[in-house]
Amino acid sequence: MTQHRVRVALGERAYDILVGGGLLDRAGEHIAPLLRRSFAVIVTDENVAARHLEPLKRALAQQGIGSEAIILPPGEAQKSYAGFEHLCEALLALKVERRDHLIALGGGVIGDLVGFAASVLRRGMDFIQVPTSLLAQVDSSVGGKTAINSRQGKNLIGAFHQPRLVLADVDLLRTLPPRELRAGYAEVVKYGLLGDAEFYAWLEANGTKLLSGDAALLAEAVARCCAHKARIVAADEREEGERALLNLGHTFGHALEAETGYSQRLLHGEGVAVGMALAFRLSGTLGLCDADLAPRVERHLAETGLPARLADVDGAQAFSAERLLDHMRQDKKVRDGKLVFILAEAIGRAVQRDDVPVEAVQGLLSEQLDRRAA
Ligand code: NAD
Ligand code: ZN
Repeated sequence: MTQHRVRVALGERAYDILVGGGLLDRAGEHIAPLLRRSFAVIVTDENVAARHLEPLKRALAQQGIGSEAIILPPGEAQKSYAGFEHLCEALLALKVERRDHLIALGGGVIGDLVGFAASVLRRGMDFIQVPTSLLAQVDSSVGGKTAINSRQGKNLIGAFHQPRLVLADVDLLRTLPPRELRAGYAEVVKYGLLGDAEFYAWLEANGTKLLSGDAALLAEAVARCCAHKARIVAADEREEGERALLNLGHTFGHALEAETGYSQRLLHGEGVAVGMALAFRLSGTLGLCDADLAPRVERHLAETGLPARLADVDGAQAFSAERLLDHMRQDKKVRDGKLVFILAEAIGRAVQRDDVPVEAVQGLLSEQLDRRAA
């Protein structure tokens, strides 16, 4: 299989993202040139450790790199003060030195937590991302956003801290639960919808096969998403402009995640899927794009097994437009009665708007919630 290399051009913080199959088994070769001593600490979670930790340790050992592993329980709860404290103390107990590298082997939870720990431990250590979920391969492992959660909300305590290398081995996705794979696929669709109509059409043609586990298609999709994100991050590392477009579908999505308690009822990517469909509905209603685009988006999401409408969300009977709007207001995306939204002028052309009337959003939510009864 072709191996793809994507460069994130950030001057002295520039790094490579390698995408392909068989990368884990050759991790030592890719990592060895970065290290200052032949030692690294791998941080992972129990689910991932059971399947992929030994192969990684073996691959490092083949290059004479010694390693220790810290294995955490899986789940978002690790991105907390308690989880952060536990990890830092465990790392310090292993006597990590400032010039050592940490390796984050896992999904976005591990990547965000390890990245944040690396940003502050011994005033800043290097780290390497080995993302194991599709969401982490196409989104969270690239771009240097790291964070833990506060009681006030998700990802509120964090830092920009770029990894030194990202190894995205699509073979690792074989052990990912299918629902997690689909949820990550929503973020793949996002790149097409926000900025690449040709890629979106490619996904319409290949998405189902990709989700069945076709490694070559997965690698191509991951590489294209990473190239897209790398370009945006290089242009706007700190999200002062274009990087905000990556939040397409996320304002609605976050409201739905909050309403469902950040639980298994709705995975992040599933919320993003519904959110993107709603963003296209809203764009159509506001006359920003053709009204027939939203049904096209909904069709593709539905055929790949993702939720596309409010009614598809577990517990939608109990939702109210007002409560969902309240969540959006909490997101601080409201200014003078207007909401800030990523909307679409076409497939592949997203725009940030800060003038979306609350009534238009309310109308759309009420309409979809009314239809749920029918
Ligand atoms: P996750 O890390 O919780 O992984 C999902 C589940 O899949 C977990 O149970 C995990 O143990 C399991 N898993 C992961 N890889 C596996 C594999 N190969 N085989 C078997 N099981 C595997 O969740 P996620 O969806 O990867 O990431 C979500 C997190 O990412 C959220 O905390 C979110 O805030 C964060 N995020 C960060 C950014 C960013 O830019 N930093 C962007 C998007 C999302
Ligand atoms: Zn997301």
